[in-house]
Amino acid sequence: MLLQRNFVRGVLLVVLAMAGPVHRGAAAEQPNIVFIFSDDHAPHAIGAYGGRYDSLDPTPNIDALARQGMTFRNSFCTNSICGPSRAVILTGKHSHINGFMNNGNRFDGSQPTFPKMLQQAGYQTALFGKWHLQGEPQGFDAWRILPGQGEYYNPVMIGPEGRERIEGYCTDVVTELSLEWLKRGRDQDKPFLLMCQHKAPHRNWMPPLRYLTLYDDVDIPEPETLFDDYEDNASPARHQEMEIDRHMDLTFDLFVDLTADSEQPEKPTDVSARRNMRHMTPEQLAAWNAAFGPKNEAFHKANLKGRDLVRWKYQRYMKNYLRCIKSVDDSVQQLMAHLEEAGLAENTIVVYSSDQGFYLGDHGWYDKRWMYEESLRMPLIVKWPGVTQPGSTADAMVQNLDYAETFLDAAGVEIPDDMQGASLVPLLEGQQPDDWRNSIYYHYYEYPSVHMVARHNGIRTDRYKLIQFYQFGEWEFYDLEQDPDELTDQYGNPEYADVIAELKQQLEQLRQKYGDETVTEPLSPEEQAKIRRR
Ligand code: CA
Repeated sequence: MLLQRNFVRGVLLVVLAMAGPVHRGAAAEQPNIVFIFSDDHAPHAIGAYGGRYDSLDPTPNIDALARQGMTFRNSFCTNSICGPSRAVILTGKHSHINGFMNNGNRFDGSQPTFPKMLQQAGYQTALFGKWHLQGEPQGFDAWRILPGQGEYYNPVMIGPEGRERIEGYCTDVVTELSLEWLKRGRDQDKPFLLMCQHKAPHRNWMPPLRYLTLYDDVDIPEPETLFDDYEDNASPARHQEMEIDRHMDLTFDLFVDLTADSEQPEKPTDVSARRNMRHMTPEQLAAWNAAFGPKNEAFHKANLKGRDLVRWKYQRYMKNYLRCIKSVDDSVQQLMAHLEEAGLAENTIVVYSSDQGFYLGDHGWYDKRWMYEESLRMPLIVKWPGVTQPGSTADAMVQNLDYAETFLDAAGVEIPDDMQGASLVPLLEGQQPDDWRNSIYYHYYEYPSVHMVARHNGIRTDRYKLIQFYQFGEWEFYDLEQDPDELTDQYGNPEYADVIAELKQQLEQLRQKYGDETVTEPLSPEEQAKIRRR
């Protein structure tokens, strides 16, 4: 099949070369692209990546996709947060170039994006679900987006015709819109790009009615780092606000006694679950209360304190998170089934990814942002019939910076010179180019802000990671081979002095290569203290 496919592409290339300056695939063979994208889905909560939750079989349908395609085992983001990751994917450029560095920014929609280029190359393009870049999407023939973060139940969706609230669970609504477009909305004579972008499993982790009691009778395995004390870290890890213990709210994040009328909390916290309850139907609310009522009662009775309370919060958090993921896994099944039924599967690239990883109690945390492994990693699974070997894996280091280039390349569209990543098509064909990157560059900016994760940039190779918290003039260094959980900061260890000096040079080379002029000098001690107080 692989040979056959390559042969067909080869013939096409020859034919196109004879016909003049037309790009590869610009004729009959342009593959369709279905990009299924979720929010905050960490690879270690996917069966195909293996790990802590394997016994729960959390993602049978995403795993089925992996068995049919290729799983990228070293897939990373450039800036671990929702909006910026999306902007990097659309543009193939780092945050400091595409301009969307923080969630508070507004995406400059006039800049080139891969959907616009595919549209110009004759593709039908559609986007349904989470957008999170403010402003209207450009480059799509059809689109319906959630405003901002969107809501889990009966979400408002914005489209070219205006806003409407659609009854149902968000993941299901977005899947239905996607299926409806595939069946009846598109021009059947053109290749298509469908971006199906789910809100789940983003905070506040509100599960669908059908899964409210899933996992009720199991103990979710705990991470070994649940009670990390950050003793080895540079100072920023001790000043964050993303601990399950101190920052995750029992009522607003975990639904203990939460009602639509729950009083505004004193400390700043995310109240979107309460806001969403106000838009639930009486039937939905009744099912919700029937599921959580007895569990809340048992919680009160147990009167937990200290580490027992943290463990309970972890259980409730993870069960809801994994319940949300089940809805995304269902969506993957529905979309795949439709492609088969419609005879589209053979010429459609299906991609599953999520905007970054997430802390699932790792280091005692929830949320993302840091360059540590759990939030740096992104899932990336690609099925391209005739190109990807079923059940294959790739170990090359890839980033969301590469997606735009990959989709353009697959469609036979020329990749603009100013895109900063590389097409993954050779990797998908099972061939790693000799000059493939051996390190990645990272830069996180949103500070001071929610969760209080300090700005940092850094470099990761297959073995080492060097992180610079430049505002505080502090560094961290990890040997991932010796210390995969990043519990022992070796920055001051003289045995690593040469490695660290070399990595600093490489980091500087990457900074220059990508044109990142946004790294600043350390703040004064007074400014450091002030920024931490906000
Ligand atoms: Ca996200």
